[in-house]
Amino acid sequence: MKKGNIGVTTENIFPVIKKFLYSDHEIFLRELVSNAIDATQKLKTLSSCGEYKGELGDLKVSVSIDKKKGTLTVSDRGIGMTPEDIDKYINQIAFSGAEEFLEKYKDNANAIIGHFGLGFYSAFMVAKKVEIRSLSYKDGAKAVKWECDGSPEYSMEEINKDSRGTDIILYIDDENKDFLEQTRIDTLLKKYCRFLPVPVISGKEQEWKDGKYVDTDKDKVINETSPAWMKKPTELSDDDYLKFYHELYPGQDDPLFWIHLNVDYPFTLTGILFFPKIKNNFDINKNRIQLYCNQVFVTDSVEGVVPDFLMLLQGVIDSPDIPLNVSRSYLQSDAAVKKISTYITKKVSARLEEIFKSNRDEYEKKWDDIKIFIEYGMLSDEKFREAGKKFTLLKDTEGKYFTLDEYKQLIESTQTDKDGNLIHLYTNNPIAQYTYINSATEKGYSVLLMDGQLDNHFIGLLEQQIEKSQFVRVDSDVIDNLIRKENKKEVLLTTTQRNIMTGAFNSQIPPIEKAQFIVTFEAMSATDSPIIITQNEYMRRMKEMAAFQPGMDFYGDMPNSYNLIINTEHPLISKIRDDAEVNVANKLTPITKVIDDNNSKIAQIREANKNKALNDEDNKTISSLEEATKALRDDETRILSEYASKQPLIKQLIDLALLGNGLLSGEELNSFIRRSISLL
Ligand code: ADP
Repeated sequence: MKKGNIGVTTENIFPVIKKFLYSDHEIFLRELVSNAIDATQKLKTLSSCGEYKGELGDLKVSVSIDKKKGTLTVSDRGIGMTPEDIDKYINQIAFSGAEEFLEKYKDNANAIIGHFGLGFYSAFMVAKKVEIRSLSYKDGAKAVKWECDGSPEYSMEEINKDSRGTDIILYIDDENKDFLEQTRIDTLLKKYCRFLPVPVISGKEQEWKDGKYVDTDKDKVINETSPAWMKKPTELSDDDYLKFYHELYPGQDDPLFWIHLNVDYPFTLTGILFFPKIKNNFDINKNRIQLYCNQVFVTDSVEGVVPDFLMLLQGVIDSPDIPLNVSRSYLQSDAAVKKISTYITKKVSARLEEIFKSNRDEYEKKWDDIKIFIEYGMLSDEKFREAGKKFTLLKDTEGKYFTLDEYKQLIESTQTDKDGNLIHLYTNNPIAQYTYINSATEKGYSVLLMDGQLDNHFIGLLEQQIEKSQFVRVDSDVIDNLIRKENKKEVLLTTTQRNIMTGAFNSQIPPIEKAQFIVTFEAMSATDSPIIITQNEYMRRMKEMAAFQPGMDFYGDMPNSYNLIINTEHPLISKIRDDAEVNVANKLTPITKVIDDNNSKIAQIREANKNKALNDEDNKTISSLEEATKALRDDETRILSEYASKQPLIKQLIDLALLGNGLLSGEELNSFIRRSISLL
C-alpha cells in the first residue's frame, strides 16, 4: 500500500470545499457523471481510431445506492485509470492563489470547480470518504483502489477488478443522507444528465404489482442520448421539434416558431430556441432557456449569453465555449460570449425574416403573439432594430397587416398634413374610441390598432425611425386637426359671444372625478358633431409613461385633461349662441363695461407710476378695483349659469359628447336619460 499527501498548497482543501460550496452541493453528481461520460467517450474515440482494439461492451454509466452501507456509486466502463494516472490526475492538484480565489467566488461553485479542475473533489461536499476502484483499458494494467477520508492523506493499493472502467464510491456523510434516496438522485440526474450522450442508469424500472410499485429487472435509463439539438435540422420533422419542446416544458402550448442554431466557427454552439406562446403574463421565470456544455446541463440563467430581449424565448443552448467558471459580470464583457450573443440575435432575425418571406400568411397569423418579442427586441437592441424593420408589421383596425414600408405607401397620399408630416392615427381601444375611428375612416384614413403591452413605447420608437412621422391617438383631437390639410377655418365669434358661450357651457359640465375640461371653439363643418371631447396626445402619453417610472407618480395623480370642443359651424350651436345673446347680452353688457372700466383705471394708475413704487393710496385703490372686478365676474358666471341651466339643449349636447367617451355615469347618466325622454 502506498500513502501520500494530496498535492495542494493550502493546508486542507476539504474544509474549504465543504464550507464554501454548501449551496450547490448537488452538483457533485453532475461532476462525477460527467467524468464517467468523458471516460466512456474517450474510449470510444480510442477504439474508432484503432488505438484500443478490445471489446467496447455495453457502454453505460450507472448510479447506484446502497442504503445499508450508506454509499452512492458512479460506475463507468470507460478508459479507467492506472495508478500512474491517479497520481497524475487525482493526487496532484495545482493550487496556487487558492484562498483569494475562493473568497472571491465562494458563491459560485461552478467557478471554483472549473478553475481548479476540482470536479472529482466535489465528491467531498457530501462524502466523508471516497473510494476510487479503477481498471485501465491499457494492456496489462493493474486494477487500483484509491481511498481518502477528507484529510489531505490518501492511500492507494492494488486490487482485483475484472471489468474495465471506474467506480467512484461515496460514503455519504450524515448531513447529506438525502443523497441516498432514489427519488432525490433521480431528480438530480433528470436535471443535469437528461441529455447526456451515454446511457445513464439509475435503479430499475418499476411496475404495479399486488397493490404497489415494485422494481422489475429492467434498468431505468435516465437520459435521452441524442437530443434534438444535436441532430441536423434536415433529420428533424416539425413533430420532432414539437415533441422535444414538450419534453422540455411539459404543459405548455405549442411554440410559435423555432430556430435551430448550429455553428462551429469561430465558436461552437448548437441549440434550439423556441418562441413560446405567451398568454397574458410573462411566464419568464419558470420555463427559461437552458444552457448546456456538451450535453451536460449547467444552468438556466443565461443572462449575458443571450441578449436580454431573447430571454423570453425558451429552449436549449449548448456550447463548450461559454466560460462557465467565471462570474456573470465577467461573462457579459467576455469577447467570445459577446460574439455568441450577437450570433444568436442575427440568427433570430434571419429566421424571422425567412418565415415572413416564405410564408407571410402564417407569419401574419402569428403576428399578434410574436409582436411582443419583436417590439421588445426593436426597443432594446440596436442590431435587431435594423433587421426588425423588415419584418415588423402594423395592424389596422380592419385586421389587415402591413410592413412599415407598405403602410407608408398606403397613407402617404392621404395622411400627410400641410406641413409634410406623415400622420399615423391609432387606437388602443377600438370599442371605446369607435366614433373617432369612424370619423377617421369615413374620411378615407387608416387607423392602426396599438393595444399591445409595449405599444406605448413602440410608438415612440417608430416616430424616431420613420422620417417626419407622428403618431396620434384617434381621439386626441378632431380629425381635421389631427391631419391638418389647410389652414384652419377661423372661428367667427365676437368677444361677448365667446364669453357667453364659454361661461354657459362651462357651467353645465357635470363634476367628474379625475377629469378636467377646457372649453374651446373650432369651426368644423356643419355636418360634424356639435361637441367633441378630445384628450391631448402629449399629456396623455406623459401620464402613461410616468406610470412606468418610479418617482413620477404625481403625473398619474393629476386629473385627465380633456378639451370640450364646440363646433361653431353646427346649426344647434348657432342657435344656442343667438338665443343666449338675445337673452343675456343685455344683462352682461353693463357688467362687462364696469369690468373694462376698472381694468383701464388700474392700467392708468400703473402707467402713471411706471418708474416708482406705488403709494399706499394707489395700492388701496387697485385692490378695491380688483375685488370689485372679481365680484362682477362671479355675477357674470352666476347669470350665465342660471341662464344655461334653463336650456336643456346645452346640457344635452354636453352629455351626449360625454356619453360618447364613456364619461357619463351614475346620477348624471340617469338624469340624461330622463331629460332625453322629456325632450322627445
Ligand atoms: P476535470 O474533469 O475538470 O479534469 P476532475 O477532478 O473531475 O477534473 O478529474 C481529473 C481527472 O481525473 C480527469 O481529467 C480524468 O483524467 C481523471 N478522471 C476522473 N474521473 C475519471 C473516470 N471516471 N474515469 C477515468 N478518468 C477519470
